[in-house]
Amino acid sequence: MSEKKKTFGSPSSSLPNIKTDFSEWYNYVVYKAELADHAPVRGCIVIKPYGYALWEEIKKILDKKIKDTGHENAQFPLLIPEAFLTKEADHIEGFAPELAVVTHAGGKKLDEPLVVRPTSETIIHYMFAQWIKSWRDLPMKINQWANVVRWEMRSRPFLRTTEFWWQEGHTAHETADEALLEAKTMLTEYIDLAQNYLAIPVVAGKKSESEKFSGADTTFTFEGLMQDGKALQMGTSHIISQQFAHAFEIKFQNRQGTESYPFLTSWGATTRLIGALIMTHGDEKGLIIPPKIAPCQIIIIPIFHKSMANHEILAAAEKVEDLLKESGLRIKIDRDSESSPGAKFYQWELKGVPLRLEIGPRDINEAVVIFTNRITGAKKKVAWGDLKDFAHEELDTIQKMLFDRALKKRAEKWHKREKLTDFAKDLEEKGGFYQTGWCQSRECEAILKEHKASTRCLIEEKTFDTCFNCNAPSVTDVIVARAY
Ligand SMILES: [Zn+2]
Repeated sequence: MSEKKKTFGSPSSSLPNIKTDFSEWYNYVVYKAELADHAPVRGCIVIKPYGYALWEEIKKILDKKIKDTGHENAQFPLLIPEAFLTKEADHIEGFAPELAVVTHAGGKKLDEPLVVRPTSETIIHYMFAQWIKSWRDLPMKINQWANVVRWEMRSRPFLRTTEFWWQEGHTAHETADEALLEAKTMLTEYIDLAQNYLAIPVVAGKKSESEKFSGADTTFTFEGLMQDGKALQMGTSHIISQQFAHAFEIKFQNRQGTESYPFLTSWGATTRLIGALIMTHGDEKGLIIPPKIAPCQIIIIPIFHKSMANHEILAAAEKVEDLLKESGLRIKIDRDSESSPGAKFYQWELKGVPLRLEIGPRDINEAVVIFTNRITGAKKKVAWGDLKDFAHEELDTIQKMLFDRALKKRAEKWHKREKLTDFAKDLEEKGGFYQTGWCQSRECEAILKEHKASTRCLIEEKTFDTCFNCNAPSVTDVIVARAY
């Protein structure tokens, strides 16, 4: 390899095999595709510009959905009085081990410690109590884009980090039915984001009592199945327990003129979605980003050659770039004239750009460009006059291919099995989703721990008469898997 190629990482540390070394493959892609970098504080990551641009594309879609469904964005403080966290028993019990607490500031010990928000229910409910006085103030529908801190002992970039970025929606309603509708509406919006933008098929349903959010009556989840057979919780939507409204004294005068407590929800999705798309779509060449959320949908590689001056080749590349940009595509030219085309192809494939466009002296003379599809590697010569149509159609095709391919892979790993004894071995060795019956007792659920697995969600199907573990009747089907 030439010296120049070394700028893409030392040649000896090549991309690990995705099939045999998934975990190493994941780390390599995160760092070498320049999504993130290591931070000096353990458990934290730096999101690099390419990774952040990807997050911004996801945010753009989700923020529009949040606003279109009647919510407004606001910003609440990073620091929360520690006493707020202790007001709701389940909430503090769930979060206590993960809290970062500020005890000193301004050069002295604080009278009252402050916690760095692990989530913002408490501070937002405190404010709701002051803002909600009458049924006319309801529903109150607020969203916050923020960072939160949950101390992590074992971190993995984008999947589990001490500090992460997310949106958290918090709403208050007059009736329980309205709160249920809200939680389900936002779950539906998340599913649309996952499937129609991130191209990740998901299964959605309720969490079990032991898996739900600390302080929720009901938690809805949507989960993807990663290529290594492990489930990934991609986001949640909760109906918050009435104890919160009582603890924070959020009271309002109802339509009958008497005092009521509102019904609350919260829902969130995080930078973990980036981890989900890496693990769903990646291949032996690296990342593949679905076109709808790719920060760069087409990378133009000018093929420099002595038969034509570099500036002439670049001028033609810019003309092509302008044409495609006009039609609303996100596009970039790799202007580096030092690296070889091969090294550039390698790097942009690793970064998962869905379409590559090459243009060199011969193409310029013929008024054509060469497109390469990131998934199939298929090349196509396209005349300048057909550029826009071809690019849009091919990106649509890639978006669809990614979803179909992920759906097919999931189908191969989604099994219906009657008894744990039938699937325990496969569950441990091969992973996958196991759809089975469950009596909904904690005792039967706890057995799954012995196989490093858990219930992921209850689904609205009933295939089995009895529980996977005991002979009691099954209430509904449940998805069992090992999970991140
Ligand atoms: Zn049972």
